[in-house]
Amino acid sequence: MSETGWAIALHGGAGVMRRETMDAAREAEVRAGLAAALAAGREVLDAGGSSLDAVQATVCSLEDNPCFNAGHGSVMTSDGTFELEAAIMRGSDLAAGGVINVSHIRNPVSLARYILDHSEHVVFAGAGAERYAAGAGFELISSGYFETEMRRAQFNATRASGAVTLDHDGKRYGTVGAVARDRAGSLAAATSTGGLNNKAPGRVGDSGIIGGGTYANDKSCAVSATGRGEAFMRMTVARDIAAMIEYGGVALADAVERKVMTELPVINGRGGVIALTRTGAPVLQFNTPGMYRAAQCEGEAAQVAVFAL
Ligand code: ASP
Repeated sequence: MSETGWAIALHGGAGVMRRETMDAAREAEVRAGLAAALAAGREVLDAGGSSLDAVQATVCSLEDNPCFNAGHGSVMTSDGTFELEAAIMRGSDLAAGGVINVSHIRNPVSLARYILDHSEHVVFAGAGAERYAAGAGFELISSGYFETEMRRAQFNATRASGAVTLDHDGKRYGTVGAVARDRAGSLAAATSTGGLNNKAPGRVGDSGIIGGGTYANDKSCAVSATGRGEAFMRMTVARDIAAMIEYGGVALADAVERKVMTELPVINGRGGVIALTRTGAPVLQFNTPGMYRAAQCEGEAAQVAVFAL
């Protein structure tokens, strides 16, 4: 890691994935998706682009990949519908954008980015978000685009039991997010999700909430979270990690360890975070058996991992 170089990290969700039970072909597929998403962000940073553009490119790549619970391949509500959420934040000036419960936006992170760039507001939800998007020139697509055979089967299996699950506990891949630092030293974070499998319609998670699942401040760190959103919101996880650094002088690794390994489990907050220090050192931690993740710092090799090391 260099003080002036770029850095990027991403996640594709945390949950119960075990080396013993994971199908090799599936693992190869998800690793390829993580590597491709990392490359999308890396290309932006390597060309001298901004961390904000990099996290958007990485998250768009993961949204487009049906393996992950965001965009195409999102999980369903208990009505069998799709309600997607995303947020993006720039650390240099705390500019932020978020979307909650949208059903007709192909890349929710791009709408969040548009809000960051163009609106005096920060978060838009539901029909109002889609009206705003249409006015801005976004295509409103049929929500059938989000559905995959795998998600339909997962939903049918869960619906019978009535459980509301983190999708990766149902064996599959999850919510996505990215954090980056550019050569100019600015941080950014972005997160996108279909939420929890079989969730109640109207339910809101942490991913689209600034300070819940997404936060970036050049003075402290960039954070993107994945896990049971209820717990992550109650503990304002992403903002709390930044606050420990800003007000308490705590090191990022210690702040993440405390939040993810000590505090979240007390309220059944299963999941993890990816984060970068101001200088671009990655911290990737989770309290579940695995978290789909990848990271790279300028001049170093890319790291892609699934299980606990
Ligand atoms: N945090 C997401 C939510 O609660 C779920 C996940 O990370 O998989 O909506």
